Amino acid sequence: MTIVYLDHAATTPLSPAVRAALQPHLDAEFGNPSSRHPLGVRAAEHVARAREQLSRALLVPARRIVFTSGGTEACNLAVLGFARAARAHGRHVLIGASEHACVREAAAALAREGFEVEHARLAPNGDIDLDDFALKLRADTVLVAQMLANNEVGTVYSVRRAAQLVRARAKQAKLFVDCVQAFGKLDCAPHELGADAVALSAHKLHGPKGVGALAFADEPRLTPLVYGGGQELGLRAGTENVAGIVGFGCAVEIAEREREQVVERLHELRARLCEFVASLRGARVLDRGAAQLPSLVAVLIPSAPAEVLMHHLEQRGVYVGSGSACQASKNALSPTLLALGLNEHEARRVLRFSMAATTTRDEIEVAGAALLEVARELQAVHG
Ligand code: PLP
Repeated sequence: MTIVYLDHAATTPLSPAVRAALQPHLDAEFGNPSSRHPLGVRAAEHVARAREQLSRALLVPARRIVFTSGGTEACNLAVLGFARAARAHGRHVLIGASEHACVREAAAALAREGFEVEHARLAPNGDIDLDDFALKLRADTVLVAQMLANNEVGTVYSVRRAAQLVRARAKQAKLFVDCVQAFGKLDCAPHELGADAVALSAHKLHGPKGVGALAFADEPRLTPLVYGGGQELGLRAGTENVAGIVGFGCAVEIAEREREQVVERLHELRARLCEFVASLRGARVLDRGAAQLPSLVAVLIPSAPAEVLMHHLEQRGVYVGSGSACQASKNALSPTLLALGLNEHEARRVLRFSMAATTTRDEIEVAGAALLEVARELQAVHG
């Protein structure tokens, strides 16, 4: 059976070019970048090259890029690091209404340390409620975290407007933007967004798992999470994941180079998938009017829980997601879906189709037809 993989928001396959770039660093080029002999020097040069690749894509100097063990660590470092470094100046932290668990849970850790953590609200169109956001910003706000694109429903948030409000109303606050789902589809340059730092993750853009980065607009002032040999500007100690970093640099370069053309194609594929959903009685795309990622379609299908639909789709070789990958194993309801106003019954009935540069029109036809078949069968059984 051919597999149609439509869960790219969870992870993407490694691109052949990325594999070719990183392979030597798993074999002969195994040096430690801190070593002084030629093997080490070459490893350091390759890490430096990857840093340059991120620097060109994000329009910040290479010395403003810190590699981490992934998106989760990058988000944790930004949230915990910025707030802890500023604790003498204020204790107020504002978090977006639908942040990934790695931001939400890091903020919860700050609350346990004595910070006052508030959550922003969503507007009826699914975007940030900017009035509420403005009201919650204060002179003692030290950190604001607001993602650019949502991993569960694909909303693209008005981050530039939010950044203007932060600069006007919370002058000492740092603005951190989680761009893990947005990179490759949207401009994520910190200066363009008005952000102090943005986070990326390699495995969402056909790079390897276990490598990510924080890119800073200016010289970073934050408290590290990991102490040791002073690697990564002294902000993230530990021997670098050279192969991962090299693959990440390559993936970022390709994603940025091909962005425009990929986005155009994704818009067409998304529109086709939405046509399938429109022909299904009772089903609706979770799109309330705010801008959307072209790669993601979240669909509410009332006839059966998402788990059941996923299982039936799986049997036809179509792999999709429900909720965010990191939460799917838990039985917890998605705070993002609840923030969008869905009730518990509805929140358990949301399927996520997510595409990538490699997704084809044929795959969308197969997945769309399978969705109609499965949903109609279940409707016939459950009414
Ligand atoms: N932020 C968002 C929006 C995500 O979707 C994810 C992963 O799904 C992460 C952060 C965490 O990234 P990683 O899987 O690299 O830890």
